[in-house]
Amino acid sequence: MPKTIIVSNRLPIKISEEAGVLSYNPSEGGLATGLGSIYKEGDNIWLGWPGMAVPDEAKQDEIAAHLAGQNMRPVFLSEKEIEDFYEGFSNETLWPNFHYFSQYTVYDEALWLAYRQVNRKFARELEYIIEEGDTVWVHDYQLLLLPEMVREENRHIAIGFFLHIPFPSYESFRQIPWRRELLNGMLGADFLGFHTYDDMRHFLSSVNRLAGLSNANGKITVDSRLVMVDALPMGIDYEKYEQSAASPDTLEREVRYRTFLGSGKLILSIDRLDYSKGIPQRLRAFERFLYTYPDFRGKVSLIMIVVPSRDTVPKYKQLKEEIDLLVGRINGHFSRLNWTPVHYFYRSFPLSALSAFYRMAHVAMVTPLRDGMNLVCKEYIASRLDKKGVLILSEMAGASKELSDAILINPNNMEHFVEALHTALVMPEEQQKRHMGTMQVSLRRYNIHSWVKLFMERLSHVKKAQEALMTRLLDDTLTNQLVQDYAKAKRRLIFLDYDGTLTGFHPNPEDAAPDESLIYLLEKLTTDPKNETVIISGRGRHTLDNWMSRFDIHLVAEHGVWLRRKGGEFTMLARLNDGWKSEIMHVLEGYVNRTPGSFVEEKDYSLVWHYRKVETGLGEVRTRELTSHLKYLAANKNLQVLEGDMVVEIKSSDIHKGKGAASLLEAFPADFIMACGDDWTDEDTFMAMPPESYTIKVGSTASAAKYSVTTVEDIRLLLQKLIEN
Ligand code: UDP
Repeated sequence: MPKTIIVSNRLPIKISEEAGVLSYNPSEGGLATGLGSIYKEGDNIWLGWPGMAVPDEAKQDEIAAHLAGQNMRPVFLSEKEIEDFYEGFSNETLWPNFHYFSQYTVYDEALWLAYRQVNRKFARELEYIIEEGDTVWVHDYQLLLLPEMVREENRHIAIGFFLHIPFPSYESFRQIPWRRELLNGMLGADFLGFHTYDDMRHFLSSVNRLAGLSNANGKITVDSRLVMVDALPMGIDYEKYEQSAASPDTLEREVRYRTFLGSGKLILSIDRLDYSKGIPQRLRAFERFLYTYPDFRGKVSLIMIVVPSRDTVPKYKQLKEEIDLLVGRINGHFSRLNWTPVHYFYRSFPLSALSAFYRMAHVAMVTPLRDGMNLVCKEYIASRLDKKGVLILSEMAGASKELSDAILINPNNMEHFVEALHTALVMPEEQQKRHMGTMQVSLRRYNIHSWVKLFMERLSHVKKAQEALMTRLLDDTLTNQLVQDYAKAKRRLIFLDYDGTLTGFHPNPEDAAPDESLIYLLEKLTTDPKNETVIISGRGRHTLDNWMSRFDIHLVAEHGVWLRRKGGEFTMLARLNDGWKSEIMHVLEGYVNRTPGSFVEEKDYSLVWHYRKVETGLGEVRTRELTSHLKYLAANKNLQVLEGDMVVEIKSSDIHKGKGAASLLEAFPADFIMACGDDWTDEDTFMAMPPESYTIKVGSTASAAKYSVTTVEDIRLLLQKLIEN
């Protein structure tokens, strides 16, 4: 029975030891709850670090045995590993870089090596339990290399990956010395989920720029494996917060807190101690609010909860001191005997206390400088049973993409921040209820359970899509069949596209002349008396003539404008005019002037704009502009505008490779027909072939070809097998 394995840095349990006795406290975090529906079932399992260093092996065994009963399996990390992998590379390199705090980012080779080694450790632990057919779901930034490591050992396993923090813009990510390795690590997954569309967009841009892989609607092909990327914002356990807000314990606490706090309005702020949360900015905004709106003094207080985190690390210690100072300054300046402006707690609270605070707060201020998602704002909304209350939310939090009914602010814009506070405090109840109601409907629906379900569905959808593509891969059995049919045949007709099929792409198209091994293959193919070999290309006739005149071969040039039967002369396949060329040439030259690195290739009946050497990204932008410009011009000229591999080609609609192919099919009846190509221009060739033909596409995108291979090398190997026969 296939199982699902969840992998994250931390197990959903906290282990502690007192006087040699171990105690186990299950985590109540949202992720643990959401994934409970998966890992607690059957043989499913959660693999992760149990939260403390356990040097003693006997104790490790005891823990492992205990956790096995709860479908968990520990990965033990030494003190040094925790320091270098977790506190080091994860939290001092990836965390600040991914949150755009480049000034805090540490680039240290030793930390990187530790990160790689611990990811490898997780991969090894996985190998003990993984079986064919299993699904692996890897979580978060501590394990970016793991998907690829698992893939190396398990080619067909389903691997999902979710990033819980932002994925930064390429401009930030590119600064990491090991960016390419990190990206390759992630691309080992079949499905990658991010909180927001922006994260996904940034990831795809890095994939494009660093790995040279483009995407179509979030689909990328990695070593001929389909990989999908999508935005899937994580929700909360809505009912848990809703129920907790109504529980007797919470209500009792609320009454108690109220007697201390009086009847003033309350603003709530809850975060872990982290520089990404914008806590000092928030305090300054509140301070400025009290200066700007003196009427509110004595009437509104800020309850600020900061949960201790990493406070032995100097940056965090400094941040804590800055917060302490600011709170002191505000309270020192504004406090009255019967009013404290900021109630500051540097500790964590149990759920019933948090729920009481959520219930009491007229305004929640969730204003991180950068946050992958932020759950506090969602929990606040779920706890507002009477639908009253206002959320001020930073547009830098992932949650802002879903919660557009909040007051959205840029936390660096102090003036706007202060105005938002004022707007929130004076907002009419009707308006509060309308906004809160809308946000509640959305959060109730996109809760943690639907997030988990959706993720698993997307992952299995990718696997199915991969299988559908895989069935067409020209595997060994099909290759043997093809070779046998070739051997048996009396007359063979073989169509070969040139660029991207027989040879790879070159920055200079004229550098793609046949190399020695290709010359050998073509020599052998064309000297076999049973063979009629055709090069069917978009290239101009002079180039083809130059490269191919040594062979006894048919040539179809310019996508079917010209045909030269072996030993003959080039003749035109269709009556064409080229009167349109000068006007279009003028337009293309305009684009060349604006796009360094691009150039125009002129053929007899077509024009091609090449952008292979243009700055990545700019070429694509210009292509979109040029294509729509040309389509407008081409409309009444019977011209076609076609996008190819780093080219845009304009040609008459009456010509295509299918026409050239049809004419040769008619002239040379054969009992073995094969056509190989790699791009959309070859689709016309494939479609012109009789049903029993072998049509083979290089690459795995949708095609009219029956079979596919991965690379130019595969085509050459196939030809080698044919000529050896
Ligand atoms: N939280 C908590 N006890 C506290 C304060 C906060 O358990 O005293 C929880 C809070 O309910 C929320 C989480 O900590 O679920 C913080 O998650 P968020 O995504 O907002 O921030 P993160 O700390 O993950 O960056």
